[in-house]
Amino acid sequence: CGIFGILCPSRKDVAKHTYFALYSLQHRGQESCGIAATDGTSLMIQRSMGLVSSAFSERELQELYGYAALGHVRYSTTGRPSIENAQPLKMRYKGGTFALAHNGNIVNIKELREQVYSLGISPYTSSDTELMGHLIARNFQDDFKTTLANVCKGFIGAYSLVFLTEEEIYAVRDPWGFRPLCMGSYEDGFVVSSETCAFDIIGAKFIREISPGEMVRIHRNGYEVDQILEPQGNFLCSFEYIYFARPDSVVMGKRLYEVRKRFGELLAEESPVDADIVVSVPDSGTPAAIGFAQRCKIPFNEVFIKNRYVGRTFIQPTKELRERGVRLKLNPISELVRGKRVVVVDDSIVRGTTSKEIVKMLWECEPKEIHFRVSSPMVSHPCFYGIDTASRGELLASKMDIEQIREFLGVNSLAYLSRKSTIEAIGIEYPCLACFGADYPTYIPSEEVREKYA
Ligand code: 5GP
Ligand code: SF4
Ligand code: MG
Repeated sequence: CGIFGILCPSRKDVAKHTYFALYSLQHRGQESCGIAATDGTSLMIQRSMGLVSSAFSERELQELYGYAALGHVRYSTTGRPSIENAQPLKMRYKGGTFALAHNGNIVNIKELREQVYSLGISPYTSSDTELMGHLIARNFQDDFKTTLANVCKGFIGAYSLVFLTEEEIYAVRDPWGFRPLCMGSYEDGFVVSSETCAFDIIGAKFIREISPGEMVRIHRNGYEVDQILEPQGNFLCSFEYIYFARPDSVVMGKRLYEVRKRFGELLAEESPVDADIVVSVPDSGTPAAIGFAQRCKIPFNEVFIKNRYVGRTFIQPTKELRERGVRLKLNPISELVRGKRVVVVDDSIVRGTTSKEIVKMLWECEPKEIHFRVSSPMVSHPCFYGIDTASRGELLASKMDIEQIREFLGVNSLAYLSRKSTIEAIGIEYPCLACFGADYPTYIPSEEVREKYA
């Protein structure tokens, strides 16, 4: 999911800024979206299924009138795709009303659900966000800082949360720091966002990342930052670096485009190939392919032409639809590879559906050899923190070793980037690498809980 919040005392139209910000965060979720706004006295919310571009009319945006707003684009990992699960969610609490937007996924959802039931509340959605909202609203005491410091201690997993009250914005990042969250300034106010690309779009200036366990309060006279939860490390999701976030965003001081290019360079150092041409699987594989080509001194060529009007194929529900989706999305220029030794670089292999199709399409162009290079390690374990890398059984690398995958894909050679090089390019000491077989930073739910609540 993607979140954006803005508070700008001199304006009345920040819902529009939020709209454009959500546009730039669209890659983080295409299922539903929403904007909440306040003029200081009452909160209005507008939510819709589908893409930002078709979700709001000019008039609807004008009606979302006020100096502060909160927006969300949703990608579901827990909870079904439905309008009820669209965010921001609206909650009543002792002090009035708040709107809530969440990025991440809570691991101890069973426990939270029981706590919510024991308060006499029946949740009306299947999402973990609603549970957090009820627990915060019902256990509200004194102020947000005290409440969040107490209640968030009980949340295990990934949560970047942003609240909009009738007057203020509060943003919290979980103590593990799984999902990104940063803040910036805009005119006489401040903004928070999942990614910096949203700042560029509206012309806001980056100030800082919100650190694990920190809360930021933004109000009419400025902002304050408090460490409300004890930090558990900096387990920023490495998949944000590899695939999920936009390449033009900056995370922990690094432009993701550069990190991805570096993945490609390190991959070339680890697993070089003697070949005639390097091609990428656009768009996500392109920076790494360029890095790979430069380091190997093999020319890079655009071979797969992408249909711009097709969304992320991964999002589609069934295997069959995903397969069809790949053809719809990418079409190769056959002369460029005919008779050549080709290296194809992609950012990740998860289920293997895309990759197998890509290889099949490439062979139809009659190259001499195909070498597959993946600019991330083997995805062997499921993610419980908000990226839909599929359940364990669907993961190619959970049932096959590298030689079996090579055979399955039908390529002359196959190599993945090592975990060590992944960490080196990311540049933080312990990013989360759990889906690549490293330890999970938190406890993980039992199979039974996963089936029931995921
Ligand atoms: P596969 O070969 O496993 O079917 O798909 C790998 C491709 O899916 C890569 O090109 C990757 O960029 C793309 N992809 C699209 N959406 C997602 C997503 O939500 N998560 C991951 N991990 N990869 C995705
Ligand atoms: Fe990211 Fe993988 Fe960790 Fe999930 S398990 S948070 S996808 S690195
Ligand atoms: Mg891709």
